[in-house]
Amino acid sequence: MIFTVFRLLGKVALVTGGASGIGESIGRLFHKHGAKVCVADIQDDIGQRLCNDINGGLDVVSFFHCDVAIEDDVKRAVDHTVDKFGTLDIMVNNAGITGPHCWDIRNFELSSFEKVLDVNVKGVFLGMKHASRVMIPSKKGVIISICSVSGVMGGIGDHAYTSSKHAVLGLTRNVAAELGKHGIRVNCVSPFSVLTNMPLSQIPEDLRTEETKAKLSYLALSNSNLQGVELSAEDVANAVVFVASDEARYMSGANLMIDGGFTSVNHGFQVFK
Ligand code: NAD
Repeated sequence: MIFTVFRLLGKVALVTGGASGIGESIGRLFHKHGAKVCVADIQDDIGQRLCNDINGGLDVVSFFHCDVAIEDDVKRAVDHTVDKFGTLDIMVNNAGITGPHCWDIRNFELSSFEKVLDVNVKGVFLGMKHASRVMIPSKKGVIISICSVSGVMGGIGDHAYTSSKHAVLGLTRNVAAELGKHGIRVNCVSPFSVLTNMPLSQIPEDLRTEETKAKLSYLALSNSNLQGVELSAEDVANAVVFVASDEARYMSGANLMIDGGFTSVNHGFQVFK
């Protein structure tokens, strides 16, 4: 693909969970749009390989080991980005996990619930906190968190995941309220299902075959509203580039749904079927 418009030229970004899945697509697309990117993840080998691949001899993408549930890791990832590239313009809180495949609250382990909230909520909170530390003195910046259709609707993800994504939306709105006076925009992007490792992680490893992937893909397509299109990680990355760019300069406190209308329509109402 040839890019004639560099929407993020000269910007510096930090993408958590950037080693694979949606985060990888965001990092790759940010780079194509002219940004320098720090990829922060717990998967060191995969993250480092991705950065070498994108860099191709240059030094415009950097890997940093960071568990978003640990404050010192997030603090150091932000500091590393600023030391390496001079500033931080765009913080993408993308790292996230799902809980166990359990639809019986009586058997939902508290430890599993806490683990999901640690990454999905505490991780986003820490990303916002440490990005703000750098952005407030500069009087500019964009914070984007990857939320989900489960951030506005029940019955799609498990209890922990759904709670965590509702919290991401609440945090986004509250932090947007605080940071507006500093010229900092705070938004989230909420995708429908994308076939990354996340949905696959719910399935036992020996069953993660091409046939299973095809079944998951069929399940997503048959439950979607917009027909004939399967949501990809690149589609989500395109939305994130838009929110990060100056074209979205008056957008703050928003939740951009990338769901083909899934959360806007009444699935039980038969008149259009
Ligand atoms: P993924 O599992 O493919 O990738 C997640 C990345 O986050 C991995 O690189 C992983 O190593 C990293 N990560 C996990 N825990 C981490 C931690 N504690 N610290 C740092 N990095 C960590 O998942 P994905 O589908 O790419 O999901 C990315 C985001 O998109 C998540 O927030 C997820 O909730 C959201 N989302 C995904 C879907 C979907 O269907 N895939 C739909 C809606 C929203």
